[in-house]
Amino acid sequence: MRKIIIAGNWKMNKAFSEAEDFMVELTDFLNVKKLGKVEVVVCSPSPYLEMASDFASENRVFIGAQNVNENDFGAYTGEISASMLASMEIDYCIIGHSERRKYYHETDDLINSKLKKLQEFEVVPILCIGETLEEREKGITEQVILSQLTKTLTNIKINNDLVIAYEPVWAIGTGRTATPQQAQEIHFLIRKWISEKFSSEISNSISILYGGSMKPENIRELLHQPDIDGGLIGGASLDIEKFKAMINTAVEL
Ligand code: PEP
Repeated sequence: MRKIIIAGNWKMNKAFSEAEDFMVELTDFLNVKKLGKVEVVVCSPSPYLEMASDFASENRVFIGAQNVNENDFGAYTGEISASMLASMEIDYCIIGHSERRKYYHETDDLINSKLKKLQEFEVVPILCIGETLEEREKGITEQVILSQLTKTLTNIKINNDLVIAYEPVWAIGTGRTATPQQAQEIHFLIRKWISEKFSSEISNSISILYGGSMKPENIRELLHQPDIDGGLIGGASLDIEKFKAMINTAVEL
């Protein structure tokens, strides 16, 4: 049975006290909730990871980082290594987010190196892939997705230690969401590719999340799709009430 993952990506938002208040309210809520196959993840800014991970006891909430460096250690001012994340018992790390591809020029090759490092230190990568609006309008969405998968997963062995997030770039932070059918089409494509490249066992067990303006109003329809196993949620995850509502929907399905 695949996990349904509801993952919040706070990006560069919240003061420390706001982050702490959020975690208190979230864990109070989760502690009295039957989560079943739903796993809740908060990807916090790096300075808050330690505080957030203090709330991660008893697997009610898992903590993710938003970035990692591809090197082991050394003179990389401002960076954070996979071994540092592992030493803080961080469970997940987002890589390949379109904002990092766009603003920090991260390539598929670099993302592949980051992925290998995370696996070496047993931090589960949340690998983001997705097409731009221009690519969708040109009709090359499938080509783009398959190329990103091929390059980022070169020489990678996977078991259950990988989460993929399909995030159409045109839907991130824009309020414009892929229709459930558009998202399902690409999720199916990803799962089929994983099955051919790795195995059907792996493709059946891997969680593929949708990301792109997911919110309480549209999560139900998206999660109803057979190949959508949760969400990577930006804007709507900043608001505890909206985040709780989305967890509730996932649990009810
Ligand atoms: C994201 O940051 O991965 C994301 C999907 O953002 P939003 O939900 O705000 O579109």
